[in-house]
Parts: sequence; C-alpha cells; structure tokens
Amino acid sequence: MDFSLSEEQLMLQNTVREFARKEVAPYFQALDKKPLPPTPKVLTAQMMKERYPWELWNKMHAMGLCTLSIPPEYGGGGASLLTQAIVCDELGRAGGLNVILQLTHQHLIDEFGTDEQKEEFLVKCATDPSYIIANCTAEPESGIDANRPDDEPGVTMKTFARREGDEYVINGFKRHVAIAPLAKLFILWCRTDKNTPLNQSLSGFLVPLETPGVSLGDIFEPQVMMGRGGMNAEVHFDKVRIPARYRLGTEGKMWEPRAKQFSYRDILILSGKAGSLQSVFDETLAYARDKIQEGRPLIQHVNIGLRMADMLATLETAKLYYRKLASDWDNQKAGGTWREENLFLFRGFLSDMTTRFFLDGLEIWGGTGVQKETPFHRHFSGHLAGGHGVGSSDQMRLRIMKWLADKSNDAYSSR
Ligand SMILES: Cc1cc2nc3c(=O)[nH]c(=O)nc-3n(C[C@H](O)[C@H](O)[C@H](O)COP(=O)(O)OP(=O)(O)OC[C@H]3O[C@@H](n4cnc5c(N)ncnc54)[C@H](O)[C@@H]3O)c2cc1C
Repeated sequence: MDFSLSEEQLMLQNTVREFARKEVAPYFQALDKKPLPPTPKVLTAQMMKERYPWELWNKMHAMGLCTLSIPPEYGGGGASLLTQAIVCDELGRAGGLNVILQLTHQHLIDEFGTDEQKEEFLVKCATDPSYIIANCTAEPESGIDANRPDDEPGVTMKTFARREGDEYVINGFKRHVAIAPLAKLFILWCRTDKNTPLNQSLSGFLVPLETPGVSLGDIFEPQVMMGRGGMNAEVHFDKVRIPARYRLGTEGKMWEPRAKQFSYRDILILSGKAGSLQSVFDETLAYARDKIQEGRPLIQHVNIGLRMADMLATLETAKLYYRKLASDWDNQKAGGTWREENLFLFRGFLSDMTTRFFLDGLEIWGGTGVQKETPFHRHFSGHLAGGHGVGSSDQMRLRIMKWLADKSNDAYSSR
C-alpha cells in the first residue's frame, strides 16, 4: 500500500501547517488561558454567534479550507477525500473549529442533492462563510441506534414528515445538534413512513433556518468535554412546511446511502484525531525530555520511556490508517472496493487505544496535565467528547460482531 502524497498535497499540507501554527493554535492557547466565562442560565444563539471566532473562520474560508468538498462548478475546491483528510490532520493539531462538519454536510448535498439544490445551497456555502450547515439526526430515544438498521416499525426515531401535495409537513425534535446555533441550513433525517422499520422509511430534507416552525431549544456549551468552543442545541420542527423539492434523495430509501456517506465524515474525524494525537505526542515528548526527576529527564525513566513508545505506536497507526481509509474511499472512482468494516474495525480499536494514549500522557504530565491551560487537557477533552459524537467503540464492535457471525463472509480469513 502506497500512501505517499503528491507534490500538490505536500504543498497544501505545508501551507495549512504554517497557517495552523501561526493563526489557529494561538487562538486556542489564548482561549485555554482565559478564565471560563460564567455560564448564564439560558444560552442564546446570539451569544454563541458572538463567541465564535469569525475572523479566523473567515480566513480559513478565504483559503478554501472550509469548502474543499464542494465541486469547482459550485465554487469549491473539489478535493479528494485524502486531500481533505490531510488538511483536517493539520488543523486537528491546533484545533480544527468546525471544518470537518462543514466538509461533510456539503458533501451530503453534493452526493444526494439535485442540480437545483446544489445551485441554491452549495453556492451559498462557497461564497458566504457564515452559511453554516448542521446535521439533525439524534433524538432522545434515537441515539446511536439511528445508525443501526435493525429496528422495528415505529421504534426509535420519532420525527416525521408527511407529504401533502407539493410539500412536506414536518413535526418532531432533534438534540445534540453540533453547531446548530450558527446554522443557516439544517440537514434533517426523519421518517416518512411510521409502519416500516427505519431502514425502509428514512428520508432526508434540507430545511433553511428561516422556515416557519423551525426553532432552537436548549443550547449547550460543553466547555470541558469539548475543549471549549463547541456548541450543541436542540432543534424543534413544529408543523414545518417545506417544498418537496427540498427533499434530499429518494423518499424512504436513505438509510443505506446515508450510512455509507457518513463514512466520509468518520474518515475526516479520524484524520483530525491523528493531528490531535501528533500535537499531544510532540508536546509530551518535549516535556519528558526537559522535566527532571531524580537528576534525570523523565524520558530516561523506564516507565515513562515505555509509555512514550506506546503513544508513538498509536500515533503512527492513526496516521497510516486514516490515509488508507481515505485512499480506499477515493479509489472507488477507479473501480476500487470500499469496505466499511475496515472503518468500524479501526474506529473501535483507535477509540480505545486513544483513551490509553491519553492516560499514558496524563501519567507523564503528572499534576500539570489536569490544568485546563495545557493543550493536553484540551485534546483529551476533545477525544472524550468525540468518542460519543459519532458512535461509541462498543457500537463499532457490535457491527463487526454481526458481520463476523455471518457465515457467508470470509473476507478476512481468505486474504
Ligand atoms: C460532541 C457531540 C456532537 C454531536 N453532534 C451531533 C450532530 O451534529 N447531529 C446529531 O444528530 N447528533 C449529534 N450528536 C449526538 C450523537 O449522535 C449521540 O449522542 C449519539 O448518537 C449517542 O446517542 P445518545 O447520547 O442518546 O446515547 P445512547 O444511544 O443512548 O448510547 C448510550 C450507551 O448505550 C449503548 N447503546 C445504545 N443503543 C444500544 C443498542 N441498541 N444496543 C447496545 N448498546 C446500545 C451505546 O453504545 C452507549 O454506550 C453529538 C454528540 C456529541 C457528544
């Protein structure tokens, strides 16, 4: 397997690395050092908009980093997934803001949207940095299982869209929707049939914020768990009427295509995580080389040195594997096979290895590691939040378990 990067990719990697070092990292470092603001009883979308680092975001947008997944004919970079992953890796070292989500959401519109939808929404994303898209899937009784095909009619997801002539009428509510307070467009996943399982009734819709009946519920700013700067909200849909032309893809047939295209997001998340691990590894190694105990640098104490070796193994695995997955994804265009089991295997494995990576790091940083001013603390928080943002490692193993139980499948033993 050859994961070497092209000249063009290497140049982009260098540019983004420099930008992240000079502009993004200092923003997060300053944020870490600021005292936590008092959390008001009620957070509003306006407050969240005021706290967002628009200046930095606008610069990233002007560099084209936030629109790499949009095809050039709609004003974006039209980059391969590997190229996007390299960018997210570099940004992940410093703190990637909301780039991964935007690349994914734009990709969903590109993949499932009509030409008319792309013209209307992707062009806005490409020209207006404040045109942010959020994805609405999770509900109180539909968390991780919204990503699993095996439910009974009516169980789990409740949000429902009823067709009325040339419109759909949508009722329901979503929660934990990342970046919702800034969003101008929601990609909504809901049922269009109450009598069939979710894998036969899931539909997608594009719902602009200004549509009557769309409102935000409680807003959360999980400062510690999301390393600050993250925001989630409930999104309510109350008798929302949207034109049928805003349906994304085929009615009731979106479970499988949606699940497949979310692999795209997961690969980008893995690349961002690899960047985060790189940053922690670099900082931890420097610390272990400089900090003296018993007259010697920490790294020369065997227990510390062995932990650093394990951390390096996790980092290298993360880097190699996201590049493999992104290359596999891109190679589909040339007739290559995409195996989502490879993604599940790796996500489950890496999630647990990363937890161990951070616990090893914490051991090395000692008391300093738990101070919120350290980058270590920020990256660890991000890992804990990310572990559940897109599905727990248990869920990954459950999928592999099902797949292994299938006697017709011998893909791994026949290699
Ligand atoms: C940082 C962050 C960002 C997020 N962003 C978004 C977003 O943009 N849009 C969005 O729609 N949602 C978002 N979410 C929500 C996320 O998708 C859900 O939190 C996730 O699906 C888990 O749902 P839950 O919290 O209800 O937990 P649950 O699904 O209740 O899971 C709790 C535990 O139960 C286990 N479990 C659940 N179901 C089963 C089952 N059937 N069999 C066996 N074990 C099971 C899980 O493995 C887990 O260990 C975000 C969450 C976080 C933390």
